[in-house]
Amino acid sequence: MKKLTILLLVLIIIGCKKQDKIKTIIKETDNYVISINYPITDNKRINKQIKKYVNDEYKNFIKQNNEEKQELNINFKINDDEIIIYSNNNKKSFKYKKEPKTIETYKYISKAKEIDISKKSIALTFDDGPSKYTRKIIDLLNEYNANATFFILGNKVELYNDTLKYMLESGNEIGNHSYNHKWLTHVDEEELLNQINKTQEIIKENLGYEPKVFRPTYGSVSKLMRETINLDIILWNIDTMDWKYKNKNKIINNIMSQIEDGKIILMHDTKKITYETLKQLLPKLKEQGYQFVTVSELKEIKTIREKT
Ligand code: ZN
Repeated sequence: MKKLTILLLVLIIIGCKKQDKIKTIIKETDNYVISINYPITDNKRINKQIKKYVNDEYKNFIKQNNEEKQELNINFKINDDEIIIYSNNNKKSFKYKKEPKTIETYKYISKAKEIDISKKSIALTFDDGPSKYTRKIIDLLNEYNANATFFILGNKVELYNDTLKYMLESGNEIGNHSYNHKWLTHVDEEELLNQINKTQEIIKENLGYEPKVFRPTYGSVSKLMRETINLDIILWNIDTMDWKYKNKNKIINNIMSQIEDGKIILMHDTKKITYETLKQLLPKLKEQGYQFVTVSELKEIKTIREKT
């Protein structure tokens, strides 16, 4: 038994050098040997739970009155999302969700923009991005004092962080378009909420911004969605078919034949042709007296107009 304890001690010392956030308790009396090892994480809540559990195991062990010399061994294993504490024959899992990293919250200051309530207004919307074309599209919008709403995917937020900051700085709106473009009318409630909430969280964590609008993937809305999602569900009036047409004149003609005050236009900032189309479309619409606003601004304009 002594040999074992020494070996354990050596192992613990070696272990401690690698990972110094381990709490170790070694005790030996005539009646028992105790060797306890448990981690101290950066999550206070889980530290408390583990400490309590270990203390309880310890107390229960001491309480036992056995004839023979007894041994208590407590050790642990850390997985991605849980810490498992092994104590003699027991095993207990503690769900471990890492605390959000403390990143400097990004304060976005959008450039001042004048909105003329009486002017014909349309909302350009871009789905599925950001992508390598997004920054160029924002530049183009800025040239025409235009703003748009970008319905983005949560799994692209970290990769395109700078583009997204630029998007907000330029006065655009960010909307939620799910985490990885799942068909949301084909998933259960848990997955639906997961897709929405994960995206909200990652945007807030990285940009200090909370989307207020949501566009369902494939434009399909369910009753469950209407009941569970706390965001404005935004569809569209004009589908530019930029994902389908290879010819920008075809896309432009399609838009121009349907354009009207108050319309919401669906585009994709993941397509090069969309950028090419916008280069011609923006001056054309501006010439016809349109101003380009976000979907939330369009809603506000409509509300103000109704009141007056
Ligand atoms: Zn989409």
